[in-house]
Amino acid sequence: MKFIDEIDIKGKKVLFRFDFNVPLDDNSNIADDTRIRSVLPTINYALDENAKIIIISHLGRPKGEVVKRLSLAPVTKRLSRLLGKEVQMAADCIGDGVKGMISEMEQGDVLLLENLRFHPGETSNSDVFARELAGYADVYIDDAFGNAHRSHASNVGITRFVKECGAGFLMKKELNYFSKALEKPTRPLVAIVGGSKVSGKCEAIEHLIRKVDKMVIGGGMAFTFLKAWGHEVGKSLVEDDLLDTAREIIKTAKKLGVKFYLPVDCVIAEGMDAEAETKIVPIQEINPHWIGLDIGPATITLFSETLSNAKTIIWNGPMGVFEKDAFSRGTTALARSVASSYALTIVGGGDTDVAIHRAGESDNISYISTGGGAFLELMEGKELPAVAALEECGKAEV
Ligand code: AMP
Repeated sequence: MKFIDEIDIKGKKVLFRFDFNVPLDDNSNIADDTRIRSVLPTINYALDENAKIIIISHLGRPKGEVVKRLSLAPVTKRLSRLLGKEVQMAADCIGDGVKGMISEMEQGDVLLLENLRFHPGETSNSDVFARELAGYADVYIDDAFGNAHRSHASNVGITRFVKECGAGFLMKKELNYFSKALEKPTRPLVAIVGGSKVSGKCEAIEHLIRKVDKMVIGGGMAFTFLKAWGHEVGKSLVEDDLLDTAREIIKTAKKLGVKFYLPVDCVIAEGMDAEAETKIVPIQEINPHWIGLDIGPATITLFSETLSNAKTIIWNGPMGVFEKDAFSRGTTALARSVASSYALTIVGGGDTDVAIHRAGESDNISYISTGGGAFLELMEGKELPAVAALEECGKAEV
């Protein structure tokens, strides 16, 4: 796969696929522009090369129809401000109007096309749609890591029809950090996996267990492992159909000599609401009618000690229901422990990202991934369809 700095884009028309799927508030204002900021190095490089910059992206899930509130107009404004230059916007992403605007572009101009997902051809990976997009430019650059686990027209189909293609600097950074963490890690390598259910992450855990020196499990999914290990976990989140899977994972860890850590105490509550009574109890003393909603202080100490000699840490998923103050302490404390370690620290997933920011530790993490789903698929050992397509690109007939 080629990267943007290995391709001659000087003065050329370059089509960029970015992931500008930014969170919007109720008034369609951008609540967090990290995804826009994260591709500025790629755009600035293209500006330095005097390219004509045509940008495509999706926003939200309009399901193939025009949904006004999911227009990329607020992104155009923010991008203009961040670049300190005017960014033009096209009212659609295909059609004669777009072609006309592109034909009038001068070198160094930036044009953002309207939301790709206003057309059903984007998510159905339509050849016709992909071919039309491909026709806009001399070079195609994919820098949408957050969408790289999808097989859509603008990131997979398109690569069969473009003359030349490659990846941008964000994609390069994401793939490099991930490879440093899992393919060529400095050891000991510790994985921390949390979040709600085992079912969402068992493939990732099964893959990671073969790579890591220590595996730390927290969050709701820990209770399935604890139950599989013979503990009474009350009304905590448990997936009974995965008890055997959990046992197998623990067995595999033992066989491979991987240290496997589960919570030793937890914060339990009678219910999820803010007024519900809470208690901190050892795992052996969970009341049969109560729910485990966060890791307890002894677990925070145990998990933090586990990280103390780590050289590489990869983390995905909160340790408890961190959205509620009463159950957020474990996740915040772990964020601080990860941030204060001397290891290379790589964090992925929307909730974990939010938790790190809330703890005020975002500057102390080596790398926070911009893609939740794509990050999880890499943790599962899968090849990302967009990356595979970029590798194949150039081999096919245009
Ligand atoms: P995931 O998308 O799988 O990473 O899960 C994130 C969600 O897991 C968050 O919304 C948390 O509130 C939830 N979560 C974490 N710990 C627990 C728990 N002990 N019980 C129920 N949900 C939890």
